[in-house]
Amino acid sequence: MSSLLHKTCVCIVLLLVMPLCRAQSYGPAHADWTIPIAPFRIADNLYYVGSKDLASYLIVTAKGDILINSSLVSSPQLIRNSIQQLGFRLSDVKILLISHAHFDHDAGSTELLRLTGAKYMVMDADVPVVESGGAKDFAYPDDHYPPAKVDRILHDGDQVRLGDAVLIAHKTPGHTRGCTTWTMRAVSGGKLRDVVIVGSWNVNNGFRLVDRSGHPASYPGIAADFQQTFAVLKSLPCDIFLGAHGSYFNMLAKLDRAKAGAEDAVWIDRNGYRIAVAEHQRAFEAELKRQQSVTGASAP
Ligand SMILES: [Zn+2]
Repeated sequence: MSSLLHKTCVCIVLLLVMPLCRAQSYGPAHADWTIPIAPFRIADNLYYVGSKDLASYLIVTAKGDILINSSLVSSPQLIRNSIQQLGFRLSDVKILLISHAHFDHDAGSTELLRLTGAKYMVMDADVPVVESGGAKDFAYPDDHYPPAKVDRILHDGDQVRLGDAVLIAHKTPGHTRGCTTWTMRAVSGGKLRDVVIVGSWNVNNGFRLVDRSGHPASYPGIAADFQQTFAVLKSLPCDIFLGAHGSYFNMLAKLDRAKAGAEDAVWIDRNGYRIAVAEHQRAFEAELKRQQSVTGASAP
């Protein structure tokens, strides 16, 4: 074959194949993820230092502070400003945690670790994703961000302690393999309250829950993982309902009520938590049923 003819054939093949090779990316960041809001106290030593929808939490202790979620690559500056507005210092952050290894919760980690020297603690099954800068994520391997070294690998039920703060890491997989729901106790209204920070309960577009011929599940066991996650979430005692996004727990509406005089009591929402878990379980089960009904699907 002549060189010209060979190149022409290669080009034609590429033109035919390229539309089939879609980028495996979540897509652009939502506007609400980068809009600053005034930081606020939720209870006792627990503060919100995130953006309008991307949640970051600061737990303040006499031995230093814990930060949950570094968020986007661009978020550390917003988080630093929020911490300073509350009268605290970013340099006091000794431990960095995340809700799960997606770029909207962990892409800022490298920069935050550089700024603080904090120890990075991540649930076992999310560690390869964090340390590969997103490349090993089952759904979005094209969402690259700076890889970060994990200092402590967490396992389901592990405690993270600093000063008088104790956080428990509950493995709630499905959305990512190492998705983590954090619980702790904090005083609000003069009483000790159970706090739940939901890692995620969402079946995103494109997640494959069942095996079909030629199209395996997003990862082996993903449907069973989601089922286990809902069992865990239903078992957790919850007074103060929080999550990885403000939208999980209706944060903006509650914030309006807090400013209107309801104050810290607005975050106590046992019923809202139960309803939200049940709604997301129903959504998962409906999606599982829909995928199972597609010809060629086998049970998870
Ligand atoms: Zn996510």
